[in-house]
Amino acid sequence: MYSIVEKINIGKKALISQTDFTNEETVPSAKTSFICCQCNHENTIEIVPYQSGFPIFQLYHGDQVITKNDLLKNGAVTQTSATMQHFGELTVNNLPTLYFGTSCKTCTSKYICVFGYGEKQPGLTILTISGIWEYKESE
Ligand SMILES: [Zn+2]
Repeated sequence: MYSIVEKINIGKKALISQTDFTNEETVPSAKTSFICCQCNHENTIEIVPYQSGFPIFQLYHGDQVITKNDLLKNGAVTQTSATMQHFGELTVNNLPTLYFGTSCKTCTSKYICVFGYGEKQPGLTILTISGIWEYKESE
């Protein structure tokens, strides 16, 4: 898992085995896998709450890595509801939203994973992966 600092273009969305996790499914980590769009290798990923990922804000701040519009267009995030703006302007499921870069183990294609994690209501903690997309650094 790494942060992304270069400008990127998002490509195909990968197939993910599980995208929604609740309560104990997130402890000590949420484990899932995605199928590489290029070579069909099944890559496992493990998201550790409060450790994995970087704030999504870092991607769209000043259009540094990707524009808000591209994130919205690809369904990576939605506009945060008015009462949840403290989590940022763009979120997954109105929860604190993070991302990380990863690559296919066999063909080294690069992927970006976006997820929201937090307490949706008292006693209900949710981790939702909005998607894992192939990406390329733009020229
Ligand atoms: Zn691959």
